[in-house]
Amino acid sequence: MKNHFQTPMTIQALKNNAVKIFTDCGFSTPQLDADCLLQFLLNKDKTWVLLHRDEKLTSDQQNEFNALVEKRKTGLPIAYITGKKEFYGIEYFVTPDVLIPKPDTEILIETAVNKILDLKKETVKIIDVCTGSGCVGLSVLKELLDKNCNSKIELTLTDISTAALKVAEKNAKNIFGDKLIGAEIKLLNGDLLCKTSGYDFILSNPPYVPHSEVEELLKDGRSEPRLALDGDTDTALNDGLHSADDVQTDDGLPIIRRLVLAAYEALNSGGSFIMESGEYQTETVRRLFTDVGFINVISEKDLSGMERITIGDKK
Ligand code: GLN
Repeated sequence: MKNHFQTPMTIQALKNNAVKIFTDCGFSTPQLDADCLLQFLLNKDKTWVLLHRDEKLTSDQQNEFNALVEKRKTGLPIAYITGKKEFYGIEYFVTPDVLIPKPDTEILIETAVNKILDLKKETVKIIDVCTGSGCVGLSVLKELLDKNCNSKIELTLTDISTAALKVAEKNAKNIFGDKLIGAEIKLLNGDLLCKTSGYDFILSNPPYVPHSEVEELLKDGRSEPRLALDGDTDTALNDGLHSADDVQTDDGLPIIRRLVLAAYEALNSGGSFIMESGEYQTETVRRLFTDVGFINVISEKDLSGMERITIGDKK
């Protein structure tokens, strides 16, 4: 509520109010949430906010803060409120059109970078399929450039969502500016690999969450895009006769099944496919990889010890 005559409150008092509200909502990190919103409001870092906790805010600032708290109360994640999320040491711009980058995915970056550096090829063609914010492909590229990779990198980012691709484009510009030295970035809008081929590396964090689980997940108001999560609703195959709820499976794998085959076909010989999935799916995913012809198929664990990515090479 807007109140121009409210008594000025200190940063600490506002924080305490927010923490109480977030605790009552049952949020798991009420302190952190309140800190992030205050830092965002004041455009200052954690230390500044801590050192100035006894300062009073203007009533405009208080109203703005209350509006941020109201948004968070709906379940909207902090990253969508502030429009940013750090991933692999890089700040990504995010909107509800893309998934919020998660630490679970960092193993994908690490594994891809090590394999790409080992390849020692003059030009390495990489595609990040279902790129969303661009965090997979762009983090890999940034890391390769930071490590003075000797190869020229040609990176393609694809997404079926035009809105997501715009977010990825903005991130590419934010991270690398308008010019790139030793690399090239291309953005493609369409289904999976957009019918392109000739890649040395295919990377992907595709939608893989089982349909019924997506329903559960989204109940908390997190507003992440269903399109990016639901592995059972294959939008590209939707013939317009079925509704999105009319799914045939509930294992989250239909999009992955198409992707594994398409990736195998689009890879150069000696190339590799690295894909994220649910830890409950990796056994099946390894079988899908092997069935289409991938060799050296293994899964790797994420930072919480869950099997998160599967890797396969093409002979
Ligand atoms: N566990 C992932 C998340 O919640 C799922 C992402 C996906 O389907 N690719 O973001």
